[in-house]
Amino acid sequence: SGVMEKIIRRRSLQLRNRQHAWQESDEGREMQEFRRSLPSYKERDALLTMISQNQVVVISGETGCGKTTQVPQYILESEIESGRGSLCSIICTQPRRISAMAVSERVAAERGEKVGESVGYKVRLEGMKGRDTRLLFCTTGILLRRLLVDRNLKGVTHVVVDEIHERGMNEDFLLIVLKDLLPRRPELRLILMSATLNAELFSSYFGGAPMIHIPGFTYPVQTHFLEDVLEMTRYRLTSYNQVDDYGQDKMWKTQKQGVRKRKSRIAFVVEDALEAANFKEYSPQTRDSLSCWNPDSIGFNLIENILCHICKKERPGAVLVFMTGWDDINALKDQLQAHPFLGDQSKVLILPCHGSMASSEQRLIFNKPEDGVRKIVLATNMAETSITINDVVFVVDCGKAKESSYDALNNTPCLLPSWISKAAARQRRGRAGRLQPGECYRLYPKCVYDAFADYQLPELLRTPLQSLCLQIKSLQLGSISEFLSRALQSPELLSVQNAVEYLKIIGALDEKENLTVLGHHLSMLPVEPKLGKMLILGAMFHCLDPVLTVVAGLSVRDPFLMPLDKKDLAESAKSQFAARYYSDHLALVRAYEGWKEAEREQSGYEYCWKNFLSAQTLKAIDSLRKQFFSLLMDTGLLDDDPTACNEWSHDEHFVRAVICAGLYPGICSVLNKEKSVSLKTMEDGPVLLYSNSVNGKESRIPYPWLVFNEKVKVNSVFLRDSTAISDSVLLLFGGNITRGGLDGHLKMLGGYLEFFMRPALAEIYLILKRELEELIQN
Ligand code: ADP
Ligand code: MG
Repeated sequence: SGVMEKIIRRRSLQLRNRQHAWQESDEGREMQEFRRSLPSYKERDALLTMISQNQVVVISGETGCGKTTQVPQYILESEIESGRGSLCSIICTQPRRISAMAVSERVAAERGEKVGESVGYKVRLEGMKGRDTRLLFCTTGILLRRLLVDRNLKGVTHVVVDEIHERGMNEDFLLIVLKDLLPRRPELRLILMSATLNAELFSSYFGGAPMIHIPGFTYPVQTHFLEDVLEMTRYRLTSYNQVDDYGQDKMWKTQKQGVRKRKSRIAFVVEDALEAANFKEYSPQTRDSLSCWNPDSIGFNLIENILCHICKKERPGAVLVFMTGWDDINALKDQLQAHPFLGDQSKVLILPCHGSMASSEQRLIFNKPEDGVRKIVLATNMAETSITINDVVFVVDCGKAKESSYDALNNTPCLLPSWISKAAARQRRGRAGRLQPGECYRLYPKCVYDAFADYQLPELLRTPLQSLCLQIKSLQLGSISEFLSRALQSPELLSVQNAVEYLKIIGALDEKENLTVLGHHLSMLPVEPKLGKMLILGAMFHCLDPVLTVVAGLSVRDPFLMPLDKKDLAESAKSQFAARYYSDHLALVRAYEGWKEAEREQSGYEYCWKNFLSAQTLKAIDSLRKQFFSLLMDTGLLDDDPTACNEWSHDEHFVRAVICAGLYPGICSVLNKEKSVSLKTMEDGPVLLYSNSVNGKESRIPYPWLVFNEKVKVNSVFLRDSTAISDSVLLLFGGNITRGGLDGHLKMLGGYLEFFMRPALAEIYLILKRELEELIQN
């Protein structure tokens, strides 16, 4: 051990010498100067003392004050300085992979190093980490994974959990695990960092851990709501004599008055939103009618107009546009680059900012552009807190956000854009006032803002818990409900019970709440369990291609566009894809396949245009399919011969069966009346289909059952996408034969059939069951 000590001492000395050399170089001095200008520098000593004296410390401070890049670095520097450099191991978690990568690069640069020396990063499927890496930035998911094999985080000296104010599910989950770990590792230091001021919540969770606030400074930012924005852009439209995107002269029928009335589309949209805002809460109805903003056309043109206004009328300064996801960002970028003014690259620099971006591209975001060039950054909500761009003076806020990460541990892709909270809107606005007073353009009316929730509900309380419960089981954390009862804010017992029951029904857990083989595989796939089950069965039954399309489609969003003014045309375009299938899922498969073919003939856009499909969404589906495929390869669920998994892909019956297996227990019975179809589920009684479902228009459905992937309660219960299935498919693929044995399975199905007054079928099942029992006994 004497030798070991010597090595440790020598390495520590090397680290210290290197640090000194850098600090004394010219570049190093310049960097030091910048770092000393950050508000966190004034608290450096106080922070370090507090961390050394307490096991848990909570740090809060305005975004950009230097928490993420500085605090872990202070710890590293002081450990190196005191000769313990090669003994320390600091892990700092980030909610998103892009920030883990960007931050490690920045911190390495501040230390005059390359990533992978003393500072590294690790995200799913990627990483830069060397033998001497002492400070590691990683996603929260990566740390959770490490805990799976290394319960005590052996050798780790400091864990810094960043951005806890976001209340992401992974972070809340990690805190429970760490809280358990602390008594087992008294030397371990835990540092929690948050942008806003709800530090008390975290402090009291850790038994009154000390808090420290880094005071910061920002300049005032003026807020413009949609009403003002429209005034400004309308001015622009007339003064530049451009074609009016909104079709001011179009005829719009206001349904309420039942008369045709001349009305601009803008006015129409505003009125719609104002009306919807009266709901005052996030009912699905509100969401649907408000969704007329973002998707594709209207939101984009509005953004284009306000950007023109800023570029032509406003003072210099970068623009930060908050969008919902990378497909939107790319599509907007294409649109802007085709614009006569904004597309002029000598005057306007348009930079997308999202996770799948190369780091050279990332750097451009932080660089100051040449004089006379306007920098426009298109970002998702990650630019709210995790990334700071100093020269931003103008913020354009679409008011929506969606989460689009596919970390395997974060099993819940929640990809629908929804309205942000007031706190998030304020945070977005604040990004405009870093160096001088700024302007914030909110692309929603004041009254819609007023209807926003104050804070976003923690993810743990707003997402279905099925995936999380599966995770708890795969991490072997004991009883699910007991574990979750120790969270910062526990989800309702009922929703936990629902999730557990659901996992039992689909066969991921057994009666004793143990993970089954299926459950184990599902926990490895970064999709909801029902979609994971489809993927697995699609691979098993050799009809993978169409199943990949269905699963990717359900994880992204519906590519079928339903423009309000051409709803009938769009609906009939969609139903052509479903001809005789009685399935929205199969319609999607056909539409996707048609698009792929058109793409090969370079006519993808014409195809989309003709069939009311969103090319963006289809592209997103396409790339997700590939990801899912390689995941299945990784997990070893595919045969070595990849063509084998498509042996039955052309056979709709196989695909239908797999869809049924995935969507069960989402099932309703079909009763064909004289001229219409009546539908019923066991829990809700009569239900309706959304009119954009291909089955919604049918006057007869020649199948006894529909499986559906989602139901929404408005006034009545509405089912979203559905697929018709036969009795035999339900019998063979619905539910979980292992649950309660074959007996239990048949009893349940029998009960189901009796409920729907299909005693003849129930009878057949009983006979079948008896025969099978005899077979088994012999
Ligand atoms: P916080 O975590 O408190 O929001 P950060 O530590 O992320 O703050 O950032 C502190 C400051 O460092 C920012 O104000 C920004 O000016 C600067 N900074 C961060 N990342 C970079 C980068 N990649 N390039 C240049 N400057 C950066
Ligand atoms: Mg930060």
